[in-house]
Formats: sequence, C-alpha cells, structure tokens
Amino acid sequence: MASQPDCLFCRLVREGDHVNATEGFVAVEDINPKAPVHLLVLPERHVDTFREVGKFEDDEARRMLEFVADTAEKAGLEDYQVIVNVGRGAGQTVFHLHWHVLGGGSPFE
Ligand code: 5GP
Ligand code: ZN
Repeated sequence: MASQPDCLFCRLVREGDHVNATEGFVAVEDINPKAPVHLLVLPERHVDTFREVGKFEDDEARRMLEFVADTAEKAGLEDYQVIVNVGRGAGQTVFHLHWHVLGGGSPFE
C-alpha cells in the first residue's frame, strides 16, 4: 500500500498537476482524453486494482466515492460516466487503482 517507486500513478500523486485533491485522494487530467472531460481519480495509497477495494477502511472507501462525485461536479459535469477497468483483460494498463470520470459530450445523444 506504500508508494511504489516505479509506479507511474504514485509519481502523479507525488508530483502531478492535480485538478482536485482531498486527504488521501487526487484527481488529474487523463493524458489521452477519450471525452471532452476525462479525469482520473487516484487514491494516494498504492492499491493495484479495484479487486483490492476491501483494503480501504469503510470511511476511506466512502470518501473515495464522494471525491469521485465532487471531482465531476467541480469539472462542471452533471451527467457523466465513472469507469474502472479491472485487470489487463478489461483494458487496465496502469496497475494503481483509478476511476475514470468521462463527460462533456454524451455518447447517448
Ligand atoms: P487504464 O487503461 O489503466 O484503465 O487507464 C490508464 C489511463 O491512464 C489511460 O486513460 C491513459 O491515457 C492514462 N495515462 C497513461 N499515462 C499517463 C500519464 O503519464 N499521465 C496521465 N495524466 N494519464 C496517463
Ligand atoms: Zn502506485
């Protein structure tokens, strides 16, 4: 759970350009946006995947979800998608848990 020296997102937590932050969590812009607004919410602690979500304390898990919603709201989004890719077969490429927040142009319009 400690910061991993060779983890890209541990580095973004330490020295990235944070668009939103709270105790234990930060949000950054995705480097390769797939929507007009594409943010990533990262826990500061290193957790490889969503499979290990049980490692978060109850209050911490709740605050993480609230921070996802707060990040979307602060980005001006009312309607948006929240996506977590879990495992290589589902498209996960960075093995530090992250929540994609996508919006600003609905795929359903
Ligand atoms: P995944 O495929 O693991 O669910 O999502 C990884 C995301 O991280 C991708 O959307 C990719 O564009 C983004 N990404 C990869 N490298 C960087 C980086 O160095 N900085 C930022 N801000 N995003 C990155
Ligand atoms: Zn990490």
